[in-house]
Amino acid sequence: MKVLVVGGAGYIGSHVSRELLDRGHEVTVYDNLSFGQRVNLFPEAGFVEADILDPGALSRCLAGGYRAIVHLAAFKAAGESMTSPEKYAANNIGGTIQVLNAASAAGVKHVVFSSSAAVYGEPQYLPIDEDHPLNPENFYGFTKLEIERILGWYDKLRGLRFAALRYFNAAGYDPAGRVLGRERNPANLLPIIMEVAAGTRPSLRIFGDDYPTPDGTGVRDYIHVTDLAVAHVEALEHILREDRSLTVNLGSETGLSVKEILEAARRITGQEIPSVTAGRRPGDPAKLVSSAERARKLLGWERRHSDLESLIATAWNVYRREAAP
Ligand code: UDP
Repeated sequence: MKVLVVGGAGYIGSHVSRELLDRGHEVTVYDNLSFGQRVNLFPEAGFVEADILDPGALSRCLAGGYRAIVHLAAFKAAGESMTSPEKYAANNIGGTIQVLNAASAAGVKHVVFSSSAAVYGEPQYLPIDEDHPLNPENFYGFTKLEIERILGWYDKLRGLRFAALRYFNAAGYDPAGRVLGRERNPANLLPIIMEVAAGTRPSLRIFGDDYPTPDGTGVRDYIHVTDLAVAHVEALEHILREDRSLTVNLGSETGLSVKEILEAARRITGQEIPSVTAGRRPGDPAKLVSSAERARKLLGWERRHSDLESLIATAWNVYRREAAP
């Protein structure tokens, strides 16, 4: 099947492209390389270097005749979204509208969309299932929720079938070592720990050690990016087969604390990984854990790589290349 992967040169997008290619699909990546990287492009895939805010480029590209779009292009720093909401409104919401309108004009009826657990906001109960109230705490989460709602309307009005995938914390790298792009200026825990282990960052700041969690540090649900990538393909197959949209959580259903991750990273990398305790980061809940039962039941999705060991070892496999000898 011919699939356009918008944002396919990014961290998650490159893993999704890899999975689609592995399953024999024909992939074209559409990316402006603002965060995406050339090193994440695979020779078997086509590549269009263009922006989602460029409707002409989108419609010229879609004239190539695609069965489906996987749309992952977005800004994703929750903190920044609170200080630069205009940027997030224009790119995430405005850019997605351009993608959907170009899809509509080109007759593309199937879209897989990168949503986020940030649509839920402060948890009212755990684990968080898809029926949990939707009350984003940051503007980034609001952009994702808004797009889910637009998708719902395009489903009703245009027959667009979508899969909205609410990711928890994506981590790890392709276990076969085929994705090598390290994120630039990461804000997430795992890549920051990896940079410290590799010696390109002096220390990890632990954002709060006084949370009501067993060791006082924040607990999150880390899902391996290859497990996420597989879910994209399964979700796409599902909406094509069932002619019905779906919204699902994608998580490991397991909580890991910052300290647990740090200790495991020290053990697996053999590096010291200095850390300092800093204050809490505004807007960070103490604990987030998913229920991914719906994805398991509807898609038959199984996680294979989301254990702590694989999350860290597959990432270290990429970052160790930078480590001082
Ligand atoms: N965190 C931290 N130091 C950092 C980055 C993150 O202690 O430099 C903590 C953060 O407070 C949270 C967890 O690590 O408890 C995961 O944060 P991340 O930004 O990766 O994802 P989030 O859950 O905020 O989307």
